[in-house]
Amino acid sequence: MPVPTQSRVVVIGGGIIGCSTAYHLAKLGLEVVLLERHKLTSGSTFHAAGLVGQLRTSANITQLLTESVKLYAGLEAETGLATGWKQNGGLRLACNQARWTEVKRQAATARSFGLEMHLLNAAEAQKLWPLMQVDDVVGAAFLPTDGQANPSDITQSLAKGARMNGAKIFEDTEVTGIETAHGRAVGVITGQGRIACETVVVCAGQWTRELCATVGVNVPLVSVEHQYMITEAIPGVTPDLPTLRDPDRLTYYKEEVGGLVMGGYEPNPIAWAEDGIPEKFNFSLLNSNWDHFAPIMELAMGRVPALQTAGVKTLLNGPESFTPDGNFILGEAPALGGLFVGAGFNAFGIAAGGGAGKVLAEWVAGGAAPYDLWPVDIRRFGRNHQDIGWVRTRTLEAYARHYTMAWPSEEFVSGRPLRRSPLYDRLLAAGACFGEKLGFERPNWFAAPGETALDIYTYERPNWFAAVAREHFSTRNAAALFDQSSFAKFLLLGRDAEAALSWLCANDVAKPPGRLTYTQMLNARGGIECDLTVARLGEEKFYIVTGTGFATHDFDWITRHIPSGMDAKLIDVTSGYAVLALMGPRARDIISRLTRDDVSNAGFPFGGVRTIHMAGAPVLALRVTYVGELGWELHIPTEFAVTVYEALMAAGAAHGLVNAGYRAIETLRLEKGYRAWGADIGPDQTPLEAGLGWAVKLRGAQNFIGRAALEAQRAGPLKKRLCGFVVEDPAVVLLGRETIYRDGERVGWLSSGGFGHSIGKPIGYGYVRNPSGVSDDFLTTGGYALDVAMEKIPCKLQMTPFYDPGMARIKA
Ligand SMILES: Cc1cc2nc3c(=O)[nH]c(=O)nc-3n(C[C@H](O)[C@H](O)[C@H](O)COP(=O)(O)OP(=O)(O)OC[C@H]3O[C@@H](n4cnc5c(N)ncnc54)[C@H](O)[C@@H]3O)c2cc1C
Repeated sequence: MPVPTQSRVVVIGGGIIGCSTAYHLAKLGLEVVLLERHKLTSGSTFHAAGLVGQLRTSANITQLLTESVKLYAGLEAETGLATGWKQNGGLRLACNQARWTEVKRQAATARSFGLEMHLLNAAEAQKLWPLMQVDDVVGAAFLPTDGQANPSDITQSLAKGARMNGAKIFEDTEVTGIETAHGRAVGVITGQGRIACETVVVCAGQWTRELCATVGVNVPLVSVEHQYMITEAIPGVTPDLPTLRDPDRLTYYKEEVGGLVMGGYEPNPIAWAEDGIPEKFNFSLLNSNWDHFAPIMELAMGRVPALQTAGVKTLLNGPESFTPDGNFILGEAPALGGLFVGAGFNAFGIAAGGGAGKVLAEWVAGGAAPYDLWPVDIRRFGRNHQDIGWVRTRTLEAYARHYTMAWPSEEFVSGRPLRRSPLYDRLLAAGACFGEKLGFERPNWFAAPGETALDIYTYERPNWFAAVAREHFSTRNAAALFDQSSFAKFLLLGRDAEAALSWLCANDVAKPPGRLTYTQMLNARGGIECDLTVARLGEEKFYIVTGTGFATHDFDWITRHIPSGMDAKLIDVTSGYAVLALMGPRARDIISRLTRDDVSNAGFPFGGVRTIHMAGAPVLALRVTYVGELGWELHIPTEFAVTVYEALMAAGAAHGLVNAGYRAIETLRLEKGYRAWGADIGPDQTPLEAGLGWAVKLRGAQNFIGRAALEAQRAGPLKKRLCGFVVEDPAVVLLGRETIYRDGERVGWLSSGGFGHSIGKPIGYGYVRNPSGVSDDFLTTGGYALDVAMEKIPCKLQMTPFYDPGMARIKA
């Protein structure tokens, strides 16, 4: 069959991801052609071990993985091709108390996501997996719906299913180029000719980065060696053996023809193909590296003594694409319309394949992700992810951490510092303990003299607790200075800038110059895509401020949704401005010592934006707050930042001004009830559900994206609502994802958790769900508890801020 000259969609790559995507596209009725340069499965897929686990830290990514399991369970019956699917369940061991806490918290999470997970003691776990010794096992989790598959068979089965639904699959057909026109992908070039198309989906595994780079699309993934051993048959290994993960020994196991497959995640991974993937690397493996595998083998033999005498068939070494944060990469490229990516599967592409192909197909067909996929969205990356050397360094760290403890608030350590604010050295000297977002160093907290500026991770109260409390109280009682230079900042310029933003924003931004607006931008479902501040600087000039991590996403969202033909141009000015947030009741006293401009409440009211002159610098001052105190965000041309910082610290000394960091911001915003995008709000939640209805211009006539969905939603009862929860016992540690119980029934999970220092209690936020509606009455008549590591902790629901600085001072 000759390659066609056109198709609605072209999928590049015949591994599990490409075949699954083609299968789902065809099922949706889209015309699709899949092109594979060699044979199906000849990339990473043919040599995968085939474990299929489902639990992730995000509810939606867990949902995606459960979709794989649902698909695999019925695929063989559908296509008549065997898949090797076995649903024997999955065991996960915990060998110390911290890991056991992690597993118990995961179990609570799994249950709230609707995934069955049982906790077992060591003896119970051993019954399921008799070959292992359990002297060091504290406990285990068992997920009965996990399973295993034969990666090649399941891929061929998906390919057959795709063909059965009309997809055309061509092997030995390499894509040598992607054609673009007017900022869109419009076709592909192959050895057999050109195919014109509306959408290209690149599922080319570890080849994806180089192929996409040819059209200016950055896909930060690198190849890393990964090994597992296959043994001869071992007495006692039965076909019904669950898969086993032993993270404290960095290893995993599955049954295969009476023997074991055993692999692991070495702490010193080896990057592969740093100078490019060799030509004709098809159905190819790398040389076994026994020296590198020896420590993993040692750990495994301690768990499964039978390995000491088992015959070894092979030590398989295969390269796979890994990413800097350990998550895969999906979605439409921000740099090129019509080009979608599904790649970087970090050694769980078989587990993710079914679900990833499904959401990718729905994304292509519907023009939007079917649900919030932010943790795997290609727009989560930024400028720091463009240099391949940096990406490799960070990716190797992420690989090495695959099985290590996932501590709350844990930061990456490699490739740092990279992006530094002009104040970095001063803050370091002042005791800053830095965290990092999109490569930008940001102070998390400040150590006092005698303290060490170093995070010591734990599931208990952490070592930075007291420092954060100090900064918190300084902000509440005096003033604090936060370096928020990493904020993403854009200018929207043009005759139609107001009209474009009025269409994009849910709140009314058509204010006179000098005013700013807190607003969301919504998708057609009414879900919150962006959460930002829009300041009007002139008739045709708006300044937009959003979170550090959302720089690529929000820039892409805005540019894509400016109606065509409008004169409105978006420019990223992030690097042009440092940002110092001066917050606290003494902020005005401090700022007025440095400027002759009117900063009185009448002269510079809340919601104002103006250039003021302080310490010799022209400073764009925004009267906003994310901590619930009087204050200004000072946006300072970068070269003036140090001067302004020094002047503020000097003027503030008499008023108790301190440096403060992001962890203090978090406790302050939790008390005040400000929402965080990516946690409390996102594409699956509307402003009405999030309690942000006050920031939506439904009363006026102006149409905006998402308006129709909100109006429809307003007509009926809300099925979920964001609520605050407070726990009396100050020792309880809330981290987010704890299950919410109402009158003993599971109704949701926490989207944020932390500690409110002013009220001296743990605070959480989460959506309470009820299919027949969440009325005020429903909320207030229930009795609530939170599941914290499998313990039910009573809590109180509250719909108003836990701490209102204004009210607190009036009472005082
Ligand atoms: C040793 C090892 C063990 C693993 N174990 C597991 C496991 O137990 N469970 C699990 O879930 N995952 C596991 N994985 C991961 C899994 O193998 C991968 O995540 C998965 O196979 C990735 O599939 P893919 O379709 O993205 O990539 P690939 O299978 O590599 O497919 C990409 C395809 O694109 C083709 N291609 C590239 N460029 C072009 C072009 N220009 N034109 C046309 N075609 C092109 C390639 O030939 C290739 O066939 C393991 C990986 C390794 C290395």
